[in-house]
Amino acid sequence: MKYDFLIVGAGFAGAVCAERLAASGKRVLVVDKRNHIGGNAYDRHDENGVLIHPYGPHIFHTNSKRIFEYLSAFTDWRFYEHRVKAYVDGGLYPIPINRTTINRLYGLDLNEQATVAFLESVREARGTVSTSEDAVLSSVGRDLCEKFFRGYTRKQWGLDLSELSAGVAARIPTRSNDDDRYFTDTYQFMPAQGYTAMFERMLGSPDIEVRLSTDYNEVKASIECGHLVYTGRIDAYFGYRFGKLPYRSLDFQHQHLSDVERFQTTGTVNYPNDHEYTRITEFKHLTGQQHQGTSIVREYPRAEGEPYYPIPRKENEALFLRYNALAETVADITFVGRLAQYRYYNMDQVVGASLKAAEGLIQGAAISEC
Ligand code: FAD
Ligand code: UDP
Repeated sequence: MKYDFLIVGAGFAGAVCAERLAASGKRVLVVDKRNHIGGNAYDRHDENGVLIHPYGPHIFHTNSKRIFEYLSAFTDWRFYEHRVKAYVDGGLYPIPINRTTINRLYGLDLNEQATVAFLESVREARGTVSTSEDAVLSSVGRDLCEKFFRGYTRKQWGLDLSELSAGVAARIPTRSNDDDRYFTDTYQFMPAQGYTAMFERMLGSPDIEVRLSTDYNEVKASIECGHLVYTGRIDAYFGYRFGKLPYRSLDFQHQHLSDVERFQTTGTVNYPNDHEYTRITEFKHLTGQQHQGTSIVREYPRAEGEPYYPIPRKENEALFLRYNALAETVADITFVGRLAQYRYYNMDQVVGASLKAAEGLIQGAAISEC
């Protein structure tokens, strides 16, 4: 059997490329070494019937109408705005830090304008903001940095804030109003029947064949295809010849509580300074599922294991650029996705990058056919 495209990985990057290419009349084979589709966004019902995310909580949010509309062809949506509290000094406070956080933490009664002035008085101006420490100190100052950011970051990354690029902590804004949503994107929705159901529809074309529990390395010699779309680790593709790109891993400890209907008041509670885990997420908040029990997950950061988080630091970016330069010299292979591009991408960013990659491939194919 001949295919026009072989796609390695059935996560967002692989599924979007497969769907677009099949829609343009191409025959596509998708392989994934895992025994399921969806990549890290995969969800399933646990033994007790609660819909969980085995690889940690995935909340969809985007400002892109195009990306939202593209995915809407494969799923209905459930409106959901994620909220997170941080457990600090024995209390639970909204994170991102907002007016409520500051008033409750310091026993104040500041209005919005006074909160702006408070933040102005505590922030430490930095000439250039290059590290995550610069980003946090220049927004909220030292005390809030130590309470909410330094410990969490040390646990999550095994590094100090000063050792990470500014963009990591800058994912978390600072607010002077009472907005306690984790994200402020225009579109904040969860796939109504879950991510896996959405992926099943994306991969449902008769022109797409999906082979699970299949490692690319085991099949590459035996499959004839015109072009490869690779969404796995770029360093692995090239046999780690320049050394391994560093990743942070996580151990997910799932738990079902059969006699607890609601475990916590928000979808996620962060633990910056207590416990070995960084956060606990209760899935029923995210999915809206009704169930007499509840299922939660604790995330324990690890140095070794599945490559979940590219580590944004200058030296890692430099190493990635070496692999990327090599990738640009090989014809007929497209590298796209969080692992292949070594980017701390959210799901919508992966969809955006994959739509762009697929469009390039379809246009390229049209040109070579004429
Ligand atoms: P992946 O989902 O990693 O898919 C790559 C696939 O390739 C995998 O299934 C892998 O098995 C397969 N593969 C790799 N190598 C091979 C090989 N040699 N042969 C065969 N198959 C191979 N984003 C959000 O927008 N919101 C969130 O709330 C959010 N939460 C997250 C929480 C956690 C804990 C993590 C780790 C990520 C989170 N993300 C979130 C990011 C999101 O998971 C990614 O942006 C997205 O899933 C990446 O899709 P991908 O296709 O690039 O990669
Ligand atoms: N962060 C923090 N304290 C928090 C939440 C986040 O220090 O309570 C920092 C930490 O470095 C984290 C980064 O901000 O890795 C990004 O947080 P986000 O919640 O976006 O991480 P993700 O959901 O991608 O794990």
